[in-house]
Amino acid sequence: MGKQNHMTKTLAIFNQKGGVGKTTTAVNLAAGLAGVGKRVLLVDLDPQGNATTGLGVTKSALALTIYDVLLGEATWAEARVATVVLNLDILPATLDLAGAVVEMAGLPQREERLKMGLAGTTEYDFIIIDTPPSLGLLPINCLAASDGVIIPMQAEFFALEGLAQIEHTVRLVKRGLNPSLSIFGVLLTMVDLRAKLFTDVIRSVRQQYGTQVFRTEIPRTVRFAEAPSYGETIYKFDPKGKGARAYTALTQEVLARC
Ligand code: ATP
Ligand code: MG
Repeated sequence: MGKQNHMTKTLAIFNQKGGVGKTTTAVNLAAGLAGVGKRVLLVDLDPQGNATTGLGVTKSALALTIYDVLLGEATWAEARVATVVLNLDILPATLDLAGAVVEMAGLPQREERLKMGLAGTTEYDFIIIDTPPSLGLLPINCLAASDGVIIPMQAEFFALEGLAQIEHTVRLVKRGLNPSLSIFGVLLTMVDLRAKLFTDVIRSVRQQYGTQVFRTEIPRTVRFAEAPSYGETIYKFDPKGKGARAYTALTQEVLARC
């Protein structure tokens, strides 16, 4: 019997809304998977470069970034760098990436630049993509290159409207660009069970989306705000805290769904 083809699973951490925990989830899920021995590539597709900084990479020292990969001027293998986490590499981003959107618009297959740039990444078990809080070419490139979408969301009044919008975007990309795209899971973030609105919204989200919603909920804790400024993941920064426990549980759920 020959060896089975190695399958790389590419997951987009996606929500057009800002500040919902995308980067925190991308970094700590990627590090969680790396921690159980998976080989992981984190793609920072946000010009803010929060995932890059959060994993201890110094932006000013970078010769190549995801920008060069999107424009076809470097390969992923040339632009990736190792992070502070064993088994976890990153395709870093800097503010340059904001300009890539304009330059990409004039290139062929402008919606599939990331997909083309990631061709041949079979040495990785997982590719996790962190996305910017916007619509446009970067998120479209992200969805075109992904197998599944993880939607981090806060339990707030407009949460269900937001989810419906994201489902619509995913459906459009699935129809036009990437038939194999699906929603991998909805993740409730910054959960604070002391607030009644939260528990009500969580109940409606779970009722409407059923098993698509991860059982794991990420609790609100200030430790998440502190960790990135040290260039550390939550496992290193506060290994025994409830944040680390939650992302460990999420990692297990993601593995079980694969
Ligand atoms: P953007 O849309 O700007 O990229 P984002 O969706 O990536 O934002 P994060 O950067 O992960 O969101 O989180 C926004 C802020 O909330 C950050 O300061 C982060 O440290 C903090 N944060 C994230 N998750 C939690 C949490 N579970 N509890 C408390 N604070 C959190
Ligand atoms: Mg972010």
